[in-house]
Amino acid sequence: MAWSFNVSSVTIMVLCILLLFFMMKPRLPIRLNFFFVAFALTEILTLFTDILSSWMDMHHELFPVWSLYLSNGFYFLFFIGRSFCFLAYTMALFGPSSGKVGKALQRLVCLIFLGLELIVVSCPLTGLIFSIDRDLGYRSGPFYNLIYFALYFFLLLGILYAIREAKILNPLQRYGLFLSCLAVAAGGVFRILLPHILVMNSFFMLAVLSLYLAFENADLYMEQRTSAFNYQTFEKVVEERIYLKKDFWMCSVMVRNFSEAREIYGGEQMDAAIGLVSEFLRRSFRDMTVFYDINGCFVLLGPPGTDSRSVREIVQARFKEPWRAVNTDVHVDLVYAEMASSLRFRDARDVVECVRRLMEAAAQSPDTDFILMDQEMMDSIRHSFRVRRALNRALEEGTLLAYFQPIIDARSGEVVGAEALARIQDPEIGMIPPGEFIPLAEKNGSISRLGELMFRRVCAFLHKYDLEAYGLEFINVNLSPIQCKDQNLAELFRSIMKEYDVSPEKIHLEITEEALIEEAVLHAQMDRLIEAGFSFALDDFGSGYANQFRLKEYPFTGIKLDMKIVWSHFKRPDSLLPNTVETFSNLGFYTTAEGVENQEMSEGLRDMGIVYLQGFYYAKPFPEEAFVAYIENQRAERQVEEERVD
Ligand code: C2E
Ligand code: MG
Ligand code: MG
Repeated sequence: MAWSFNVSSVTIMVLCILLLFFMMKPRLPIRLNFFFVAFALTEILTLFTDILSSWMDMHHELFPVWSLYLSNGFYFLFFIGRSFCFLAYTMALFGPSSGKVGKALQRLVCLIFLGLELIVVSCPLTGLIFSIDRDLGYRSGPFYNLIYFALYFFLLLGILYAIREAKILNPLQRYGLFLSCLAVAAGGVFRILLPHILVMNSFFMLAVLSLYLAFENADLYMEQRTSAFNYQTFEKVVEERIYLKKDFWMCSVMVRNFSEAREIYGGEQMDAAIGLVSEFLRRSFRDMTVFYDINGCFVLLGPPGTDSRSVREIVQARFKEPWRAVNTDVHVDLVYAEMASSLRFRDARDVVECVRRLMEAAAQSPDTDFILMDQEMMDSIRHSFRVRRALNRALEEGTLLAYFQPIIDARSGEVVGAEALARIQDPEIGMIPPGEFIPLAEKNGSISRLGELMFRRVCAFLHKYDLEAYGLEFINVNLSPIQCKDQNLAELFRSIMKEYDVSPEKIHLEITEEALIEEAVLHAQMDRLIEAGFSFALDDFGSGYANQFRLKEYPFTGIKLDMKIVWSHFKRPDSLLPNTVETFSNLGFYTTAEGVENQEMSEGLRDMGIVYLQGFYYAKPFPEEAFVAYIENQRAERQVEEERVD
């Protein structure tokens, strides 16, 4: 007994210290943490009441009957509660992933738990589990074994639940859960083998310890610099709110010029300033949970019905002042973003993605300091998310398509070339135009892969069809400004051409004005590609800032006039476009007009001296087979016409 008492008091002390540490650190407002505290607390109370009731039972003649009922009653309540808390913990751990069956099981378990506790409470009247005899003291009741049933039923179910669902955990968590299951199982076995020694409690302490180290240690969830919760935990909390059908309120507080400010003030000062922002948010909004993502982005999760306006005003007022960090006044721009309360999210992933995209949108809008995310914005964010997924899929599976739009010789009216244009045919969204996915690919770096695939498609086309036999002189391929920075591009193109046994003279590379920004890089790139045998056309002239003087510096052979300046001329004709075309011709560039949509444009542009025409008046971009069929058809019609003239 003395040994048991010593072990038990050490166990109580260890658990108290653990709980104290746990309570001192910030905690995520999730059920898991609630049941962890409940598990550790019921363990301490079970031990305490066990020692107390055993001692009182031994000296029962000294105590009134009601006090013996109380001490024994509480012991049994906590005894059952402890194993129930272990089960509830594992259930909370996997709650959202266990679906409807999980929910029904949870209800059933709660009912059994309440029933058992009720039986314990009724003991002074029924004596089912125990009773107190005025002379003999404590006596076991006819249903005493229900206590063991509760112990083994809850523990076994908890272990089974953990085994079944553990696949969604990371290795450390799985290890911690395994250890805690092992500990409670060993505790259960020892209880049968050595019922009078209080060793089971020590095993339960080991279980609490394992859970703490694997799941509950706050350092796992905190962003060290800011003492806010890290962004991964945001999904966890939202997931539970949605699972429990609990409403919530959200807003995002972002430092817009984060990278710029980091360069101006230095890393140490910015980290300190972000720490101050975090502290301010946590102090000002105590009923909210503050999460920190990278680059100065915070998310606040609050209760439904939060007064949005007052939160916004408090934040905006504070950001007007500098943040005094490491003896420096750090001034940063605020972007405050809020979700309209009418928004409905599908799941936690949806919320997390929407907030992420919202942050990206905020970073790119230099003029606003307040964004209200409404349904329209959310739909467009969702759409761009789906496009992103489709893009990844198309590049991974190599299902990116090349469409071909005919380019017409303005004088003869014959198809002499084509522009290859990228398309994605996605099973979810359908046909996606490049205007939607090229900017995304440029942002996430996959444009190199996309460019390579498109180049392959064109080479495969050139390998398959004899261009000359179809009267075609060239195929245009678009290059992104990002691709232009790749020093190995010429080498890559060379090796692909070798693979398909095609020569570069038939390939014209189109680059837009944006690529002209990095002059030296582009010059070197163009030189390498020209050496490899390609020629260049400037795409979309007139849509940006390029002018005739700058173009002289680059080895372009052709200029493609953007459809906007073509359309603008035919809306309000003046001498601007004809003069531009004439200047380019005099400088030795061939010109192509884009966006030719009707006969008037076609004739007007030809009379201006434009060399090539491209536009819906002739044809929209086609898939490969349709494009070939179109040319064959055109040639057949022309032949019939020539024969008729003859
Ligand atoms: P772009 O290179 O200027 O291509 C011409 C765009 O104008 C094509 O749009 C074409 O379908 C459209 N177009 C042609 N004629 C007409 C017309 O008469 N009326 C109207 N309204 N539009 C016409 P698309 O295919 O949507 O491509 C948009 C842009 O996406 C391209 O503009 C190009 O900048 C980019 N892009 C397409 N494919 C690729 C690619 O493989 N790589 C790169 N880097 N960019 C690409
Ligand atoms: Mg183009
Ligand atoms: Mg263009």
